[in-house]
Amino acid sequence: MSADVAIIGAGYTGLSTARYLAASGVEPVVIEASRIGWGASGRNGGVVSGKFRIGFAEMARRWDLETARRMHDLGIEAIDHVGETIEELGIKGADYRPTGSLRCAHNQVALDALRAEADWLTGTLGDQAISMLGPEEMKAETGSRDFPGGMLNRHGGVIHPLNYVLGMARALAGQGIRIYCETPVTRLGRTADGIELHTDRGVVRARQVVIATNGYSDLTPATDAVRRRLIPFRSAMIATELLDRPMLEHDRSYTETRRMMRWFRKAGGRLVYGGRGAFGKADSAAAFAALEKAMRRQFPQLAGVAVTHRWSGLVGMTMDSLPHLSRLDDRVTFSLGYNGTGVALASMIGRHAARMVLGQKTDAGLLTSEALRPVPFYEIREPAVRLVAGYYQFLDAIGR
Ligand SMILES: Cc1cc2nc3c(=O)[nH]c(=O)nc-3n(C[C@H](O)[C@H](O)[C@H](O)COP(=O)(O)OP(=O)(O)OC[C@H]3O[C@@H](n4cnc5c(N)ncnc54)[C@H](O)[C@@H]3O)c2cc1C
Repeated sequence: MSADVAIIGAGYTGLSTARYLAASGVEPVVIEASRIGWGASGRNGGVVSGKFRIGFAEMARRWDLETARRMHDLGIEAIDHVGETIEELGIKGADYRPTGSLRCAHNQVALDALRAEADWLTGTLGDQAISMLGPEEMKAETGSRDFPGGMLNRHGGVIHPLNYVLGMARALAGQGIRIYCETPVTRLGRTADGIELHTDRGVVRARQVVIATNGYSDLTPATDAVRRRLIPFRSAMIATELLDRPMLEHDRSYTETRRMMRWFRKAGGRLVYGGRGAFGKADSAAAFAALEKAMRRQFPQLAGVAVTHRWSGLVGMTMDSLPHLSRLDDRVTFSLGYNGTGVALASMIGRHAARMVLGQKTDAGLLTSEALRPVPFYEIREPAVRLVAGYYQFLDAIGR
């Protein structure tokens, strides 16, 4: 089988890239090891956000104001793109609600930092969607007395993540774009005029390849080159049975300011609560129990409400905390490393990735200007992640 461009991975990144390549008159094929959305795209928290792991003020300090502004614009572009995609592709059941997000300060130090950030965003970037809430408003918003204040960001909202990715795939298939599931790419090989993707079901020949495997880049050796530049980090979620009491009436996403961040939202009439998952290859009962304990401490009103669903997935972290869209060489492009915030960005990045594949110039801010560095001491990354996470938990516990 042959195509102009072969894309590895049928999550938001892979499907978005296929969409924009096809719109440019190029024939893509998407090859997925498992099912559509089987990676993070089908199992995430559905928080539609335009933020990055590095704050915009910090970007202005490390790079310059223009860079921070470009990244802020990119985040808004990604959020807007979610609504446009649902409309243009006629995606049913994505249930996108642009209700914004609320960052909940877990102590006074965190609140002061949020206030400084809000002042900077409104004063320097002119972002009028940002405002601060006091303790009473936080109680009214969250039902919890845990938070002395918070920062409301009216950009973004919440979505049904699996229906979004499935709807995207259905629309692309309807346009005649080929998507092959249950077909892991096991090896990449060079030919005189292109590249071969080896699978157990045959070989796909293409002129260009796009790697869109993010936190799942260690499934096979085909994506070894990017695997060594990512740290997969397990993110876990639990959901309660259907709630019989009102909660989180504004229907936003809510995140805590702790370094080992916990977040929550309502979805399908349940409370969904997320945070760090187990270290290593598999889920652990202890990580889910820790999440449930934190949820019940924060929301004592959930006494008697059972947790009925528990699951986790892998996010792709990078050494510089930034996502990256770049080329490995003249044949292979990759986009990955969303550091846990990829619903909006990964589903928009195909716009830029398609241009890069076609050899056109594209500006996705730091995503395209910074190089993706390898993870030093890759073999000991798991104990290193454990060590850093333990240190962050310690800082959270002592209120720093
Ligand atoms: C539990 C959890 C909660 C999250 N919550 C949020 C949130 O609320 N908001 C937010 O913005 N982001 C969130 N994220 C992050 C977000 O889901 C990801 O950034 C985004 O889905 C990345 O999409 P992707 O298409 O790049 O990768 P993925 O969706 O992970 O897709 C990669 C695909 O590549 C396939 N693959 C891998 N190797 C091969 C191979 N050799 N051959 C063929 N196919 C292969 C995999 O099977 C997989 O389907 C969360 C992530 C997790 C895990």
